[in-house]
Amino acid sequence: MLTYDEALQRVLAQTDPLPAEIVPVADAYGRALTESIVAAENLPPFDNSAVDGFAVGDATYQGGYVRDYAGTVLAGQIPSRDLGSGAAVYVATGAMLPVGTSGIVMVEDTVEGEPAIHGPAFARFIRRAGSDVEKGETVLRAGDVVDAGAVGLLSSLGVTRVSCHSRPRVGILSTGDELVPVTTRVLPPAMIRDSNSHAIEAAALAAGGVVIQRLHAPDDKDAIRNALLSLSGCAVVITSGGVSVGDADFVKGIVEEIGSLDFWRIAIKPGKPLAFGRVGNALFFGLPGNPVSSLVTFELFVRPVLRRLAGHRETSRPHITATLAEPLPHEPGRREFVRARLEYRDGEAFATTTGSQGSHRVSSLVGANALLIAHEDHGDYEVGERLPALLLF
Ligand code: AMP
Ligand code: MG
Repeated sequence: MLTYDEALQRVLAQTDPLPAEIVPVADAYGRALTESIVAAENLPPFDNSAVDGFAVGDATYQGGYVRDYAGTVLAGQIPSRDLGSGAAVYVATGAMLPVGTSGIVMVEDTVEGEPAIHGPAFARFIRRAGSDVEKGETVLRAGDVVDAGAVGLLSSLGVTRVSCHSRPRVGILSTGDELVPVTTRVLPPAMIRDSNSHAIEAAALAAGGVVIQRLHAPDDKDAIRNALLSLSGCAVVITSGGVSVGDADFVKGIVEEIGSLDFWRIAIKPGKPLAFGRVGNALFFGLPGNPVSSLVTFELFVRPVLRRLAGHRETSRPHITATLAEPLPHEPGRREFVRARLEYRDGEAFATTTGSQGSHRVSSLVGANALLIAHEDHGDYEVGERLPALLLF
């Protein structure tokens, strides 16, 4: 059986970032750029005031009588004239400064009544054109992720469209005779709602994918084959269920027939039967049907792949070290990913599990903000032991 690290390496080695597309900045949010962005303008575009106050013409002004009071310049207004020695003008924050401004007295340092400005002028209250970004400067590089700050910067510079990696198109197929649509009000005997395809869709969206189709097939070879073929134009095809060793587990065999299977067993818990391969041009992930196993294996394998396809440099979640606030039973042999809630006290993260870790327990996923990583060579853990945790947010 492969270890988690070997399996992930194998998967990522077959994953290349998708080609570029040009999109409006709003659609680029959260995506990785394929181009550098060079400022075509200065930012700020003109010298302006950092404060509400009085712009003065004398560099050495320390307060006192102003001979030549030149009115006001509000934000958005153009100064009517230059400032000479002995002159002052009221300026609002962000207002364009008159030529000749050598310093600004904060309004807080003045007394009411116009020409009597008391208090020193400071040049540091002048926001110079280009002091934030200079024309010609590279402000973002290929591979950088467009976050809210980047949206602000691009928008300030008048950049409305950027080139970034395409979002990976994802197809989802849930398999199982026992599944009915989630809209089913009254469950027929022996049936359950197909929750996985919705949970996987949510996880795929959160990882930056676009879900093109969500299908269900009964445990029937032809139905599964047809569904897989119809999804094979996606970048990633994700199935749930039918990858274990049961009588009705047909997915692996069909993938071998219409595509190729790379591996299907990994020494992890939950998620030992996880299949990886190809169907058409799509990367194929056969996730186990148990709801916890399918979401945890999505997190461990599919999310990094979607991130790599979308051009992100960072494909994994951040790790920290957590301290157990309760004992953690763990059988050596497989690496176990335990749903847990971290609480921080005095800068230390204390972990409590979300209860029984049965892989059918959907409720154990809710409220988990971390996966604790119990090592394959370790037995039960005691309160106070420290172990690595993947942060899930
Ligand atoms: P399987 O991997 O097909 O053997 O399924 C393992 C367990 O997961 C069984 O209890 C299934 O009923 C359950 N399961 C499979 N697919 C889904 C699904 N789409 N939604 C919820 N539970 C499922
Ligand atoms: Mg099944």
